[in-house]
Amino acid sequence: MNHFPVYLNVENRKIVVCGGGETALAKLRLLQKTSADIHVYHPSPVDDLIALARADLITLHRRHVMADDIAGAALFYAAHDDDALDREQAALATKLGVFANVVDNLAASAFITPAIVDRDPVTIAIGSEGTAPILARQIKAHLEEHLDTNLGILAQVAKPFRAIADQIPMGPARRKFWDEFYRTIGPRALSQGKAAVANALEKLFETHKSPADALGHVAFVGAGPGAPELLTLKARKELDRADVVIYDRLVGTGILELARREARMIDVGKTGFGPSVDQGTINDLIVKHAQQGDYVVRLKGGDCTVFGRLDEEIEALAPHDISWHIVPGITAASASAAAIGQSLTKRGRNTSVRFLTGHDMAGFADHDWTSLAGGDQVAAIYMGKKSSRFIQGRLLMHGARADTPLSIIENASRADQTITSVTLDRLAHVFQSGAIAGPALIFLGLQPRDAVNLPLTQKETA
Ligand code: SAH
Repeated sequence: MNHFPVYLNVENRKIVVCGGGETALAKLRLLQKTSADIHVYHPSPVDDLIALARADLITLHRRHVMADDIAGAALFYAAHDDDALDREQAALATKLGVFANVVDNLAASAFITPAIVDRDPVTIAIGSEGTAPILARQIKAHLEEHLDTNLGILAQVAKPFRAIADQIPMGPARRKFWDEFYRTIGPRALSQGKAAVANALEKLFETHKSPADALGHVAFVGAGPGAPELLTLKARKELDRADVVIYDRLVGTGILELARREARMIDVGKTGFGPSVDQGTINDLIVKHAQQGDYVVRLKGGDCTVFGRLDEEIEALAPHDISWHIVPGITAASASAAAIGQSLTKRGRNTSVRFLTGHDMAGFADHDWTSLAGGDQVAAIYMGKKSSRFIQGRLLMHGARADTPLSIIENASRADQTITSVTLDRLAHVFQSGAIAGPALIFLGLQPRDAVNLPLTQKETA
């Protein structure tokens, strides 16, 4: 970064613009938005410049600039469209210690003016160090489209209210108050004007000022199977709002990076160096943070309602009266079906699909093996790695054919996704060979679409 963006206070400071035509006018359109004292120098200015001077928006000097005019100015613009003259004047300004800009000449400029999205007092400056002006314009257009034109009103109303809002204890409670104002209450009132926004802010304050309202909230959020793009927009918003994110091992780093920068990140799924945090400790952590007034995001892989021990965590909140809600995510079975190009249900093939776990708290999980072994069933088997021998044995024992097709999808949706087609008699062998290191889902009765018609001998592709 060679150009460091800052916001310069120009209130009542002199800004000098040299030029009498369209280029100078273009700069003045921006500068007029400021409270600076703007002086324009040119012997023969165009009519629009004269009109600006008549309207008292600039001071117009019908001559070329001199050293005394520049000294002490905050900024200097050379905008004649005459390279030699512009550079000469900019050099003079630089010599006098004033930051100078030659319009459209990066090399001769001490500073450059960014593209600006103006929602005064909120302004967004976009710059590309002169390398990609079109990109900067595209970003500006995007922001212009997405930010309410009256957004500035929110900040204007909030400014004098800050002293009153300081009655709310500093920390999560106060943050929650402002967050709600900018996120929902304020924008909703915007269409009815400034007075309505001020009213809404006062009402919101009434509900937040007492300590009882300082209790936090828990969002149980499904993070999807791993690819950040498979995170829902809603999950993303929750991450953006979180004071604390309590996350599991299966949640990828790309997703964690989307959390609010100030959010505290707590990993409760450690493997390798130590055992994962036990459920009781996780419950306590969630309760503790919510009681402190934090907005807690409990982030779980896939969908939090599928083999996620969600109910235990919800039940832990009940005695403390802590509010909560669930944000669904894409479960591993959906991502795995997508990976092999199959649908989970298909007319004439299977009218139901089962989600099974390979093991539960008591050990290997028992299921209705007779019906599963029937040959016409589709089941998504979660956590089936350690129990693959048990599953294989039970299915065979209950009459399943040795060549029943299965698919193993490892790291579904992630860059390191693998797909293995296998027959039932080889299932445990594939896992024992160590080829599958990441989280894996086993499909009973589903094969990759393009493997369906292959001869059996070619099906295993670990
Ligand atoms: N709530 C999660 C499941 C948690 S149980 C969900 O809805 O997906 C953990 C199991 O999910 C893993 O053992 C594995 O079987 C499966 N799993 C999770 N992410 C996966 C992925 N990206 N690819 C394949 N299987 C995955």
